[in-house]
Amino acid sequence: MTSPPSAQIIDGVALSRQLRAQVAERAAALAQRGTRPGLAVILVGQDPASQVYVRNKVKACEDSGVHSLFEKYDASLSQDVLLARIEALNNDPAIHGILVQMPLPRHIDPHRVIETIATSKDVDGYSTLSAGELMTGSPGFNPCTPYGCMKLIASTGVDLRGKHAVVIGRSNTVGKPMALMLLQQNATVTICHSATGDIKSHTLQADVVVAAVGRRNVLTADMVKPGAIVIDVGMNRNDDGKLCGDVDFAAVRQVAGFITPVPGGVGPMTITMLLVNTLEAAERAASDL
Ligand code: NAP
Repeated sequence: MTSPPSAQIIDGVALSRQLRAQVAERAAALAQRGTRPGLAVILVGQDPASQVYVRNKVKACEDSGVHSLFEKYDASLSQDVLLARIEALNNDPAIHGILVQMPLPRHIDPHRVIETIATSKDVDGYSTLSAGELMTGSPGFNPCTPYGCMKLIASTGVDLRGKHAVVIGRSNTVGKPMALMLLQQNATVTICHSATGDIKSHTLQADVVVAAVGRRNVLTADMVKPGAIVIDVGMNRNDDGKLCGDVDFAAVRQVAGFITPVPGGVGPMTITMLLVNTLEAAERAASDL
């Protein structure tokens, strides 16, 4: 009896390691020319998940030769003080990227905060100007998660030109920029969301499916075209409390050609692309000196 075909696993940990080594090399070369890349990470409040994310980002910086300035504030910090601090970092030549960890306490308007970060230092790529740059194909900073997904897709060696890509989810930070980046690579793109009637009818036509919803089993094996590339952005907990994605991994891997696991797929790439963007920001700043 032959075993069922199984998709090639796209290893986000291995790809991250490779890309972070390149960041470390470029950071060292830049430091030799007098510019040490610097990322400011701001955390307001005690959200436990945010504390873990921030710690991981700071550690990733340290491991890659990127200077990190970690500022932690009490949840009572006023919006005005936070905005003034961001303005100061905008003008600090030692800082090339600014990241304010979301979510923020309720009394702080996240849009005001994001729009205060200088576009040249918006390494999360969340501001309206950064979104406009992505939309128009100008050289800005791409949001880290979909940017990481694009690197994972590129690692398969499959050319996206003329391929049909389906993105499930349309958030400003993942789904929409993901669709734009796929479009930039000449894919034909469909975006599905909570009001899409029959998601399966779309995904069955897709050469690439990106699931970015935040719900288990959004994509099951009967919804996938044989050989497709499946990228799972979702982060959920299964009944045993273990981290899992939006994709029914065990079953979908029998149909897909390539698939990202959760954990070990998109997650590590998000931080990696933050490092890549920070380095890029530092290189641009150095070339302007
Ligand atoms: P979000 O802002 O909540 O957006 C979810 C999207 O999914 C929305 O566009 C929503 O549609 C759509 N949706 C909800 N239910 C649906 C359904 N039944 N069928 C089809 N679409 C549906 O979430 P997000 O920030 O984009 O994140 C999505 C997931 O990715 C989450 O699990 C998050 O934790 C994870 N994530 C992971 C990373 C990482 O580094 N691994 C980074 C970011 C996010 P509507 O717009 O119609 O409401």
